Amino acid sequence: MTELDLSADTRVIDPAAPQYNARIIRRVDETESLAYVWVRFDGEAVPFEPGQYMTIGVFADGKLVQRPYSVASSPRVAAEGYEFYVRLVQGGLFTPLLWRLPVGHGMRMIGPKGRFLLEEGDERVHLFISSGTGNAPFVSMIRTLMRAATHRLPQRRVVCRRPGLPVDRRGLGVERRVPRPIRADDLAAARRAQCRLARPHRPRRGSAR
Ligand SMILES: Cc1cc2nc3c(=O)[nH]c(=O)nc-3n(C[C@H](O)[C@H](O)[C@H](O)COP(=O)(O)OP(=O)(O)OC[C@H]3O[C@@H](n4cnc5c(N)ncnc54)[C@H](O)[C@@H]3O)c2cc1C
Repeated sequence: MTELDLSADTRVIDPAAPQYNARIIRRVDETESLAYVWVRFDGEAVPFEPGQYMTIGVFADGKLVQRPYSVASSPRVAAEGYEFYVRLVQGGLFTPLLWRLPVGHGMRMIGPKGRFLLEEGDERVHLFISSGTGNAPFVSMIRTLMRAATHRLPQRRVVCRRPGLPVDRRGLGVERRVPRPIRADDLAAARRAQCRLARPHRPRRGSAR
């Protein structure tokens, strides 16, 4: 099975297992092997902290196949579903199944779990360095901080290993205020960012803080 040919995956996906408690409500394909997927509980949303992950899965050939994914959306909009950034893994057990699911398909979702969290009231400058789908927990943190507007704006720097990975600021709703992502090979930009961080912070009038 190649990365883009899912036809070799003949596992039978259960469309309506009684264990399903959520469903895919939206999906946006950034590239052929990278998707933004929104999953919403059928019942009430479960609260989580930015940085935590949920485990999602479906039954295939009678077995539950599930994997953990960091939530990229803010807990404040959990009722609208949880957004995940997922990369299709060649030879993987779960992601080829996920790629075959239509919007509206049932899923099993459990969680949240994870201790990769921002410390409450930590006023230090935050430099978020991530690559590819590793952006997800940081995006959730930034979205939540921006909504609260009680915290100093974090510096989000996305280190991109190769073109095609998510380096844009799509959907953050903070395009003008979040710094541009820096490519891993753009050393000059990385040095400039370091210099900016070394300067004392002076909140500007009308800024997030
Ligand atoms: C806390 C957490 C958060 C995560 N968040 C994200 C996220 O936001 N986005 C994201 O895309 N992923 C995330 N992941 C990874 C995700 O959970 C899956 O591992 C990933 O999507 C691959 O799943 P899969 O079932 O398709 O592949 P798997 O079946 O798990 O296989 C992964 C790779 O390992 C190889 N492999 C599997 N078994 C063996 C074996 N026995 N011997 C040798 N090689 C083997 C496969 O060929 C494949 O290349 C996260 C993982 C964790 C733990």
